[in-house]
Amino acid sequence: VIADFPGFCTALDSIFEASRAEIGGEVATYIPELGHVDPDQFGFAICTIDGDQYAVGDHETSFCVQSCCKPANYLFALQEAGEQEVHRHIGREPSGKGFNELTFDELGRPHNPMVNAGGIVACSMIQPQKTIDERLDSVLERWRRLCGGTAPTLDEAVYRSEKETADRNFALGYLMREQGTLPDGADLLETLDLYFRCCSLSVDVKMMARFAASLANGGECPTTGERVIAADSVRACLSMMSSCGMYDFSGEFAFSVGIPAKSGVSGCLMAVVPNVMGFCVWSPRLDSLGNSVRGLSVCRHLVSRFNFHTFDSLVGRSEKEDPRFPGIG
Ligand code: GLU
Repeated sequence: VIADFPGFCTALDSIFEASRAEIGGEVATYIPELGHVDPDQFGFAICTIDGDQYAVGDHETSFCVQSCCKPANYLFALQEAGEQEVHRHIGREPSGKGFNELTFDELGRPHNPMVNAGGIVACSMIQPQKTIDERLDSVLERWRRLCGGTAPTLDEAVYRSEKETADRNFALGYLMREQGTLPDGADLLETLDLYFRCCSLSVDVKMMARFAASLANGGECPTTGERVIAADSVRACLSMMSSCGMYDFSGEFAFSVGIPAKSGVSGCLMAVVPNVMGFCVWSPRLDSLGNSVRGLSVCRHLVSRFNFHTFDSLVGRSEKEDPRFPGIG
């Protein structure tokens, strides 16, 4: 899909170097284990919808996905319960509030699947009749297929740290149980446990780029050719990522970068250029809204050089390069 892949990689190298110069931001410490990470680390990987891959920097270092598990959990809930049932319990509006706020929409639902409350409800719908270990195995197996055959592992230290400092998530859970937000029969403590485990999955940027590429490719993994998720579920997920994926920066990100993305407090940012590629940046320093500083920098550079903003297609023959059709732009 990229006409000159080596040339494109050279452009990615310079975007990586330019973004490395960004040294602002702070590592998240509210989950103590996250604070132990070397803040200078920086990895970047892409995977195209026809399976070309590129990776640079700390691309072999593992990190935990944190909120980047939310698109996955939403997809898995859609697979199991269907769109109508999922959205009986979870809204699809940006919340306008922090990701872990105790607020709900006028129907008493979490605002969307990308905030903590929505992420917890999505977990409640994943294999609810099974044991917690079976539920996690099922999640890992689906991740494996989305990531082109490499499964994440559970980072036990992050999981423990996450669970020990999760008063807010417990509060959200109890509140939702009290007001009848969780599906009938959902076990709250098991649901929270699955949520904590999902946040603590350990990945690298290459895996996450393949995950994002599976979404860019409508649910079919580009490196294995396997259909993992139905195309209409992917459409739903990309819509939610577009409007709600970047914390309280989601509107600005949709305006100025214009691609579906999700970030997490570990400094992970995964993004999708539909029909072209998926990519992941990981660098732990976060800005005041919780997004990776270097992650945002890579996104901005990519979209200022290439016509990847969703609505660049409407701007006519802009100054930007179209890497699919070099010479047009
Ligand atoms: N596990 C984190 C929490 O629930 C997720 C935070 C995030 O990455 O947004 O607080």
